Amino acid sequence: MKIVNVLTFLILVFCSLKTATSKELNIYSHRQPYLLQPFLDAYKNKTNIKLNVVYSSKGLAQRLASEGKNTPADLILTVDIGRLYIYKDKDLLAKINSKILNDNIPSHLRSKDGTWFGLSKRSRVIGIAKNEFSKGEVSTYEDLANPKFKGKVCSRPGSHVYNRALMASMIANNGYDKALVWAKGLINNLAKRPQGNDRAQIKSIFSGECKIIIINHYYYGKLTYSDNDDHKKWANAVKIIFPNQSKNDRGAHINISGGGVAKHSKRKNEAIKFLEFLVGEEAQKLYANVNYEYPINDKFERPIKLKKLGNFKEDKLYIEDIAKLAPKAQEIIDTVYW
Ligand code: FE
Repeated sequence: MKIVNVLTFLILVFCSLKTATSKELNIYSHRQPYLLQPFLDAYKNKTNIKLNVVYSSKGLAQRLASEGKNTPADLILTVDIGRLYIYKDKDLLAKINSKILNDNIPSHLRSKDGTWFGLSKRSRVIGIAKNEFSKGEVSTYEDLANPKFKGKVCSRPGSHVYNRALMASMIANNGYDKALVWAKGLINNLAKRPQGNDRAQIKSIFSGECKIIIINHYYYGKLTYSDNDDHKKWANAVKIIFPNQSKNDRGAHINISGGGVAKHSKRKNEAIKFLEFLVGEEAQKLYANVNYEYPINDKFERPIKLKKLGNFKEDKLYIEDIAKLAPKAQEIIDTVYW
């Protein structure tokens, strides 16, 4: 029995030494592994630090909370401010003050208290069937509720975080009452029950079922530059509209992929360095090349594939407001059965 105890003790000492000295960081990620891998490889090449990833589409915040001080996690990476904000709300993120992060991320795309940071941008845009509408006929989110488009609009279910964020931005910009009326109008215009993901909406224009869709811009990029000829055909049926671009209007709705350092990380300085790497030139190019996401800061040049989509004005709303309005947005989504 005593020998077993001594052995256990030695193993524990060995393990703790290994943790303290090895060049590794642990990431809890909602981002899919194939999207993350190019960043991990680039960082390993540069620093020789190995990044271990626990990937899950759900439940990581609960896991981090229940692990408390004993968590092995150093970093959180996710998409959508709604998901990122949950970590802040549950007090799971460390407060960081990094000049590189502050300089490279516009202030409306990072937390005021240094807990969460936007790392890339995506816009929720409108897609229309080519040659179906006159120029400027569909140009704003508000147009989606115009009765003249009855039976033409398609979207994934409202409860998906992407649509909930868009709904929250409608509340932030137009007020709750107008946002509710808009949502009712949108539902009245649907060609079919909300279903499918964003890719399926693009396909539904190609098939002729839908004429106006709501999608994240990068899905259009992925299908346009896909190796699959069918995907290219789907995308080719669609014209992308960045909404609300007129002079006095607010610009297209923006969301982020982002991250933060785990509050109980034992390697906070190393974790901050990785976040700083993600907002540097090399990684910012990767976001665009791997997933057609926009660099977090316009000072980074966009690759040609993104430039082809054209320049557009962005809604500069402090993005945390969108997360805070999520419950109100969901209330409207439930009310109108989106
Ligand atoms: Fe997505």
